[in-house]
Amino acid sequence: MENCLFCKIAAGEIPSNKAYEDETVLAFHDIAPQAPVHVLIIPKTHIQSADALTEANDALIAHMFAVARKLAEQLGVKESGYRLITNIGPDAGQSVPHLHLHLIGGKELSWNN
Ligand code: 5GP
Ligand code: ZN
Repeated sequence: MENCLFCKIAAGEIPSNKAYEDETVLAFHDIAPQAPVHVLIIPKTHIQSADALTEANDALIAHMFAVARKLAEQLGVKESGYRLITNIGPDAGQSVPHLHLHLIGGKELSWNN
């Protein structure tokens, strides 16, 4: 989608510090990390948020969670634990309207981060 920051990152038009990539999913380190590990996992196709998902996206979502598990292991937080968050809309503070999973860990997390 034109003028979508994460579509541009997925297309390589804006650089990112990549953690994982395949044909359908990209993961990259958040530019303003809230914890020692803070990675964003996005579909390469534009989906506005988790609220815009349909059954056609079931395999993609399962794959995003599989990528999250793989990254948690690679980034050393599988045993210590981690949080997966997806913000939806203004009250949740979604600032980029392209579906993303935050993978956050590497410290004890309070509920509001
Ligand atoms: P949201 O607030 O939409 O749930 O999360 C958006 C996230 O994207 C924020 O954590 C923010 O730091 C991150 N972010 C925004 N712009 C960029 C960017 O250009 N590069 C990277 N790597 N992360 C970004
Ligand atoms: Zn997009």
